[in-house]
Amino acid sequence: MAVLLGCIADDFTGGTDLAGMLVKSGMKTIQLIGVPTEPAPDDFDAIVIALKSRTNPAADAVEESLRALQWLKKQGCRQYYFKYCSTFDSTSKGNIGPVTETLMKALNAKFTIACPAFPANKRSIYKGHLFVGDELLSESGMRNHPLTPMTDSNLVRVLQAQVKGKVGLTDYTFVKGGASLIDQRFADLQKEGYQFSIVDALSDADLYSIGAACADLSLVTGGSGIAIGLPENFRKKGLLKITEDANKLGAVRGLKAVIAGSCSLATQEQVRVMKEKSPAYFVDPISLFDGKDVVAEALAWASENIAKGPLLIYATSAPDVVKSIQEKVGADKAGEMVEHALAQITQGLIKLGVGQLIVAGGETSGAVVKALGISGLRIGPEIAPGVPWTKAVFEQSDNESLVLALKSGNFGGPQFFNEAWDYIQ
Ligand code: ADP
Repeated sequence: MAVLLGCIADDFTGGTDLAGMLVKSGMKTIQLIGVPTEPAPDDFDAIVIALKSRTNPAADAVEESLRALQWLKKQGCRQYYFKYCSTFDSTSKGNIGPVTETLMKALNAKFTIACPAFPANKRSIYKGHLFVGDELLSESGMRNHPLTPMTDSNLVRVLQAQVKGKVGLTDYTFVKGGASLIDQRFADLQKEGYQFSIVDALSDADLYSIGAACADLSLVTGGSGIAIGLPENFRKKGLLKITEDANKLGAVRGLKAVIAGSCSLATQEQVRVMKEKSPAYFVDPISLFDGKDVVAEALAWASENIAKGPLLIYATSAPDVVKSIQEKVGADKAGEMVEHALAQITQGLIKLGVGQLIVAGGETSGAVVKALGISGLRIGPEIAPGVPWTKAVFEQSDNESLVLALKSGNFGGPQFFNEAWDYIQ
């Protein structure tokens, strides 16, 4: 069966978030890391190509997104999706606008929408203004973001500054009227010469209506929220079967381990809770800095303890400890050293028979995925919002049995490391 939805995500965890959303709505989905060179693996309704283009120079982001699109076009997708952050992270130079405009041109699309709303995660849009919880975007913490400070909550204005075409608004008066009114508004905007519309959305019901109105757009752009309405369009056209098993990953084998490289508050608590029950090994950055063979020590410890249940190997430390090592070594060097060691330890753990792995930390996950030569992730059941179990697809191996949960540092409750296993059995 042909791929129905081809998606380009501007960062890795954003890609996983979108892929998880599609799986929940019944589409079998794979996330690929970077633009592949091989044809698509079989049997997926949706493919998400995760780039790392959110904060690249606009020209690079455009070039990479276009390469991703060209590859997706070769797979014969019916519709395309550009996923960015639900806080519309961008600057006046881009990258959301320039990437969208380029993709439209390549698809010969005359009109698209931009809707980062994700009401379940408290991102809503009203009269074109983006709210984060109860605050306007421009008054939220995003105004101080180091790379993409968002100082204007009016998305019509924000997007207009990034594109050549005209940006209009489909405001709540249309959205609350449902799909046919929204559809009519899109048609009217196009007649008036608009190429883009920001779309208001306050609830999941709105996202479903907007999704239905997007059935015939070749390109849809937004956060992951708007994706929940799209699978139904394919179902109505008889292209997507209703299935309960979009999130099934097949047999799960192997021992269990957690690698924690995040120092975020949620992970600190998860480490503390897991240590009460499970064998745990601390990867000490000072020992790494002193040139000790911490990787070999950790793996020797792991082989002795591996039979005792899920193992925890962590570098997670309190802020004052992290600060003191950063002062000694430099923040970048400390991060790199720890990531490298944790990635090597993970390689060793897999040789020891680990087949079920949780990795905590965005950068840490990136380092592990790279070291293991993983080229894709088949998306499975959700453990916590934004964190699904996945099955690894490898660049150069037929290892079919590694399941992974890659957790952003701040995601998940205190019992995450203890309870995540229950979701994959
Ligand atoms: P998060 O998702 O919480 O931001 P990341 O993995 O993205 O987690 O980032 C955490 C960074 O901190 C990584 O580069 C990791 O190697 C580094 N790190 C982890 N533990 C320590 C430590 N004890 N001292 C200094 N740096 C550390």
